[in-house]
Amino acid sequence: MDGASGNAQAAGGKGGRMRQTLLVAALAIAAAGSGVAAQNLPQFDGAKALAYTREYVDTTGPRWIGSPGHAKAEAFLKEQFRHDQLEEDTFTTNTPAGPMTMHNFIVKFPGKKDGIIVLASHYETNYPLRNIHYVGANDGGSTTGLLIEMANDLRGRTQDGYSVWLLFTDGEEAIKSWSNTDSVYGSRHLAEKWQADGTLRRIQAFILADMLGDRDLDIQRDLNSTPWLEDLIDQAATQYGWQSYFFQTRTYDEDDHIPFVRRGVPCADLIDLNYGYDNAYWHTAQDTLDKLSAKSLTIAGDTILETIHLLNQR
Ligand SMILES: [Zn+2]
Repeated sequence: MDGASGNAQAAGGKGGRMRQTLLVAALAIAAAGSGVAAQNLPQFDGAKALAYTREYVDTTGPRWIGSPGHAKAEAFLKEQFRHDQLEEDTFTTNTPAGPMTMHNFIVKFPGKKDGIIVLASHYETNYPLRNIHYVGANDGGSTTGLLIEMANDLRGRTQDGYSVWLLFTDGEEAIKSWSNTDSVYGSRHLAEKWQADGTLRRIQAFILADMLGDRDLDIQRDLNSTPWLEDLIDQAATQYGWQSYFFQTRTYDEDDHIPFVRRGVPCADLIDLNYGYDNAYWHTAQDTLDKLSAKSLTIAGDTILETIHLLNQR
């Protein structure tokens, strides 16, 4: 991500004390919740998601567009989904650094109901950070691992409800500096393509995951997202006792969901814009694997799986 860190800091980055208070409250609620861990709720394996993240980040390293690491990232995803319905969406687009070829990947798990739930994450790292060995463990890495593990919860059966499509976007990050035309290249391309071919109107929900591996997890409520879908996510989180990790502060975030928001698709952007004290790890060489936790990925994954369940019941 993203273009809106200033907003995020204004909304929720006032420093350690407030966050510590939130964390204490969160731990208390989580502890209370764990005693009544509802038996029928989906259980996501955050430890496995973190293991995938580690493997992905260690294998690919810096993976800005055009780098050897990016080619490794493409190969990594193709290998993970070699037995699934994997589609590659390759396109060439103009950027401030000249024409670039980018690759989105879509993994389709068909369902019994007509309609699609899209779970998305970007997988590349920032072109402007190509000289500082920036590996994007959280930003791009953690949610790639999350989606890879999500496939283990979906694979091997027809989904009872809507089809679920995992979307790995390319070119989310700005090539030079964030603007409407220098950002979210992959999702802009795909939203346009899916509008033209009729896919877009079948999408029931577009859930974006970004920067969710942070061990100090606090997911902002994004006011560019669709209120009813965020309410549903809040409901899902609450069933696990995870609600204090969600939506305690608000922001307007620009990310891969925006091209879909603009076309009327119900969207939710799940993002934690407070990464390290005063967001110090964000888009720096400090965005490394040691900042991540399996617990945070469990919280995000549980909530997304249960949100799918709730969407299927609507
Ligand atoms: Zn980013």
